[in-house]
Amino acid sequence: MTSIQFLKGVGPKRAELFGRLGVETLDDLLFYFPRKWEDRRLPARRELSPLLEPSPLIRGTVKSIRDLHTSSSLRIFKVVLETPEGEAEASFFKRHNPRFDVFALLRKDLKPGRVVWITGTPDDPLFLTRLRADEYYADDDAEALKMHVGRIVPVYPLTEGLTARFMREAVYEAVQAGAEGVGDFLPPELVMKRKLAARDLAARAIHFPENNFELTAARRRFIYEELLLMALAWAIKKRQTRSVQKGFTYEVKKTLLTPFRERLGFQLTSGQAHAINEIFTDMRAPTPMGRLLEGDVGSGKTVVALSAMLLAAENGGQSVFAAPTEILAEQHILTFDKFLKGLGVRYALLTGRLKAAEKKKVLADLADGKIDILIGTHAVISEGVKFKSLRLVVVDEQHRFGVRQRAALRAKGDKADMLIMTATPIPRTLFLAMYGDLDLSVIKEMPPGRPPIKTTEATEEIAFMAARDEVAKGRQVYIVYPVIEGSRSVQDGTGQYNSSLIPQSGDRTQAEDMKSVKAEFERLQGMFRGKRVEMLHGRMPSEEKKRVMENFSAGRTDVLVATQVIEVGIDVANATLMVINNAERFGLASLHQLRGRVGRGRHESRCLLVAHARTGDSAERLRAMVQSSNGFELSEKDIYIRGAGEILGVRQHGDMEFKLADMARDKEVLVQAMEDRELVLLDDPELAKKENAGLRSKLRALYAARWDLIDLS
Ligand code: ADP
Ligand code: MG
Repeated sequence: MTSIQFLKGVGPKRAELFGRLGVETLDDLLFYFPRKWEDRRLPARRELSPLLEPSPLIRGTVKSIRDLHTSSSLRIFKVVLETPEGEAEASFFKRHNPRFDVFALLRKDLKPGRVVWITGTPDDPLFLTRLRADEYYADDDAEALKMHVGRIVPVYPLTEGLTARFMREAVYEAVQAGAEGVGDFLPPELVMKRKLAARDLAARAIHFPENNFELTAARRRFIYEELLLMALAWAIKKRQTRSVQKGFTYEVKKTLLTPFRERLGFQLTSGQAHAINEIFTDMRAPTPMGRLLEGDVGSGKTVVALSAMLLAAENGGQSVFAAPTEILAEQHILTFDKFLKGLGVRYALLTGRLKAAEKKKVLADLADGKIDILIGTHAVISEGVKFKSLRLVVVDEQHRFGVRQRAALRAKGDKADMLIMTATPIPRTLFLAMYGDLDLSVIKEMPPGRPPIKTTEATEEIAFMAARDEVAKGRQVYIVYPVIEGSRSVQDGTGQYNSSLIPQSGDRTQAEDMKSVKAEFERLQGMFRGKRVEMLHGRMPSEEKKRVMENFSAGRTDVLVATQVIEVGIDVANATLMVINNAERFGLASLHQLRGRVGRGRHESRCLLVAHARTGDSAERLRAMVQSSNGFELSEKDIYIRGAGEILGVRQHGDMEFKLADMARDKEVLVQAMEDRELVLLDDPELAKKENAGLRSKLRALYAARWDLIDLS
């Protein structure tokens, strides 16, 4: 492996900068893919392609230059160019320095009469007549024409201290030095079948394509590689998990299960019963369970999880039940209190807000085996949490956790069973691709007697009138806003940047047309005078959140003004109206989850969507919400899948560190990769054949190290 330091212009200092980007060797640099491509050819030669961004650029003869001092310390260098379309002007900006002439180089390079290319930011995107200059190149500079202008140009993710131009030059060198020798690891049969670009050509074209066709082919090549490797990794992982022995057995004693069933006070739906059956069969099998339970919001997954945890407890095994938020973990404790009090099952809560002494006690009891079920937030994953004998890991709302976190939790036991739950139905191909090592149980129906939730679009006035009516009838209401306060950074319930809110196109001041919980809370208190209105968002102290939730659960609050924090798990049967403001900003899965907070009791419930603006996509989402209240139906929609990265919790956690692939967008390639995986493994399950040796070593390098995933030694 040649170190990056061997490149021209890369000393120890720049090498460190490259290191920040994960680039240490020439090979790393060769596979450091662009984030986008700019078309810097002359307009007449440009192609229309979704991959190519036309770059603001002018080419012309320098007509005149002007060096301006402004009153401040800023200096401006103006260049007027003569182009076939007329005159254009580019301005360079620099801070004044009394010790030397900051524009000396420009004066030398941009002499009147020379033909040059200048890129930058146009004052008006429609007319390239005035540009705030960025890079410039002489037309007779052959090197520049190979890399920077007059062609399709790569744009890389950068770090402070590395310029776009330097990066491009470094990659160019790496390509010259290494692209030809990259070699292929795919079996030639697959390359032919899928008509993939040759790997060495693709390694060049992904950076410096001659045209759109080359670029498209190169991208498809590498996307296919990424998806095939991932698909293979999951399949092999699944087989390997299935081949280990748990080393203990379960007996359905019913000492806990029967009294639990009796206390439920309702019949299990057939979907629940079926899921419990599948889970029990897995748990009693000699190999560890890995199962995903899908069921729409309100379908009753908690009861299923509880049954599994009780089976473990009956057999002396400990379970952990991980929830993504404190609010949800505390809701679960309430459910446990309702169904398990007096059964002799020992359960405890562990969240970040436990006092040191309480926490110490819980941890000690856990290690002693005095706790059967630990319920908690991400805190249960932390290192100090040790079990005596952890047998079952349940992860609720699993899209809020990552593969790594799930694995860390599972590692606290010895070959523990794992049940992960989601209300977000995942299209089958995506499921197989993402959770290929898991089996699937689905609860299709809702518990009986739930009136359907009526969803409509409404104006704010109508929504508030409806809210007043509900409150007058003794019902409770949620009113949701996208942000905590009206700042320019988009804040969500957790107080962090909320990537799940959807930016509007052409919308420069992201948060400015979004209503905020804090501002609206004040206003709503006035509007609902005499009623009890409270506020809930992720940046409130935990104690405060807990108090607000308890008040609402107990019916002491009429109106809860909240952010998306209430998206998961809150279960208040008397709440019958959900008002979602700035509905255009929420993804389809989030809208559906929010809606699922109502319709949990016997009263008729409604969801009102108040939209303040609509783009094509948001109109489509709102229409889908109005038309369907079924999560499985919604998940068939493209708009749902489009946001899959967010919904499925891939991007946040960086589990699938694809460089180019996007499982939602590249659906077709994904399907091909899945098909090919089956064929490859059918023919050669251990990847032992000569033609698969490349795949095998690539897989080992990629996944075994990072995920502790597969063992191909
Ligand atoms: P989710 O699948 O969204 O997690 P929950 O487990 O929170 O749903 O269940 C929603 C509500 O439905 C809870 O109040 C729960 O007690 C109730 N429930 C669950 N199963 C049934 C059933 N078979 N019949 C009636 N109510 C049920
Ligand atoms: Mg739930």
